[in-house]
Amino acid sequence: MINLKKLPKVELHLHLDGSIRKNTLNDFYQKDVTNEIVAKDKCLDLKEYLTKFSLPVSFLQTKENLRRACLELSEDLENDGVIYAEVRFAPNLHTSILTLEEVIETVIDAFKNGHIKIGIILCMTRNDSFDNNLKIINLASKYLNKGVVAVDLAGDEANYQTSLFENLFKKAKEKNIPFTIHAGEVNQEESIKVALDLNTKRLGHGIAVINYQELLTRVVNDKILLEICPTSNVQTNIIDKYSNHPVKKLKETGCLISINTDNRTVSNITLTEEYQKLAATFNFTIEDFCNFNINAINYSWLSEEEKQEKIKIITEYLKINS
Ligand SMILES: [Zn+2]
Repeated sequence: MINLKKLPKVELHLHLDGSIRKNTLNDFYQKDVTNEIVAKDKCLDLKEYLTKFSLPVSFLQTKENLRRACLELSEDLENDGVIYAEVRFAPNLHTSILTLEEVIETVIDAFKNGHIKIGIILCMTRNDSFDNNLKIINLASKYLNKGVVAVDLAGDEANYQTSLFENLFKKAKEKNIPFTIHAGEVNQEESIKVALDLNTKRLGHGIAVINYQELLTRVVNDKILLEICPTSNVQTNIIDKYSNHPVKKLKETGCLISINTDNRTVSNITLTEEYQKLAATFNFTIEDFCNFNINAINYSWLSEEEKQEKIKIITEYLKINS
């Protein structure tokens, strides 16, 4: 049996607000908040899953709480065998007391003092205004390479088309800000097509591409990385059950895969547990997992030198353990 906990991992798709320790929130609210922050194994849809973020977001309104969430998450990642992560959050959701700059600087500073190297992705949100989302592009430009590595678009994909945000991503491109896009987290052909037309190199989830042959061919030919989060996909009900997840089919079709939790608390899972479920369900081997992690490193926003250093850690682990 492979020790999947020790396997050096890279996680590219991880939300800060969905990954606050349950005990931290229980302590803060002085009650058991499990039902408010952990999604059911099977929600009706993504929209229902997203209701579990209200309480964590209300917690993340002070410097102290933001710092605590970041430090604890970095510790949890280290304990899970993660050697590099890109953590994303939507600064506009954390400004009931703090300014946007204070929010971003607090998160940058906390992760700098954390347990592992972390790159920060700033999310625009689908139900926010153009002007508010534009602020995120401008701030990503300001803090790029100072802790922030990219921007993203998150939220209710079924009800807010990706085409509404095309001009914002064009602005990001003008400013040379790297980006990834949540697209194909629900069955929205338009969403994936717009993301590919914007020349994204990574798709957040992207699994719905399995249903659209022309787009699937583009994803394979253009070597787009899929940030796949299997447990989350079952909870949001795009997939009926884990064994029907298309991750293996996508891999066999030639897609580049990375494996992620999406939300450690809302989805109640660690990356090690996600690997264990994948190994048990799809017979993925240690080589497969190492390849998923090498894909993740190659598509991360680490420097070339750091990429080589992390790839070496994984190939050496594979040499000893295969
Ligand atoms: Zn996500």
